[in-house]
Amino acid sequence: MQRYFGRIFKNMIVLDEDDKYHLLKVMRARKGEQIEVVADEKVYLSEIVSTKPLEIIAKKTLKDNSELPNYIILLAALLKGDKMDLVLQKATELGVSEVVLLTTDRTIVKIKDHQNDLKLGRYQKILKEAAQQSKRNRIPYIKNIISFDRIDEIDADLKFIAYEENKGDVSAFNKKLKNVKPGKRIAIIIGPEGGFTEGEVIYAKHHGFSPVGLGNRILRAETASIYALSVIANHLEDKNA
Ligand code: SAH
Repeated sequence: MQRYFGRIFKNMIVLDEDDKYHLLKVMRARKGEQIEVVADEKVYLSEIVSTKPLEIIAKKTLKDNSELPNYIILLAALLKGDKMDLVLQKATELGVSEVVLLTTDRTIVKIKDHQNDLKLGRYQKILKEAAQQSKRNRIPYIKNIISFDRIDEIDADLKFIAYEENKGDVSAFNKKLKNVKPGKRIAIIIGPEGGFTEGEVIYAKHHGFSPVGLGNRILRAETASIYALSVIANHLEDKNA
């Protein structure tokens, strides 16, 4: 069933304009059809009672929670246009809670372009669409772009920096993830195409980020984000671990 993020007043569902368009024009929804609407992180089985004008009524709440048991923060160095889009989409599918965009010593992209994407809501739209598609209960947050030296402001219980020089050492990452309790906050930093400078890694370590490896091969930055989040989600969702 199609899922949308909306708002609820009493039992009336309100959707954004682009979602109304999607529902009526793309999905060609008819009166009497049912959809799922997430409002205030709850999932409502809802019915379209009229299409002109659009009226949607919440029928009942569904016990459905696809969220990870932990709050996951991805700190991703800025990447060129479509690679950044890919990271945001895949990170959402993999359960990320928040994405923080970073400028680093080796950032080569135009920061202005990314600032515009944020200001115009383009990144927020990618996150929302991916959250709808993957049937999440929450749309991940995206904050302003920060420079690497501000990673000390990140509030997390478990902090990692994926460092290419540590590539072979995957057990440090696995060991820490194995023992993490539900509710703890986990942060991971992924570098840009050119990797991190040694100074950045020393700074990150000083602020509690453990350098970890993501396997014997050097991954592209976008693959590294996907790999790291997959490993995290897999650990957190393994009920028998
Ligand atoms: N240009 C660098 C690689 C950068 S890869 C070099 O040739 O060494 C981009 C980012 O992805 C890195 O900064 C790191 O955060 C992450 N990454 C890629 N492969 C990795 C691996 N095997 N282990 C840990 N981090 C990795």
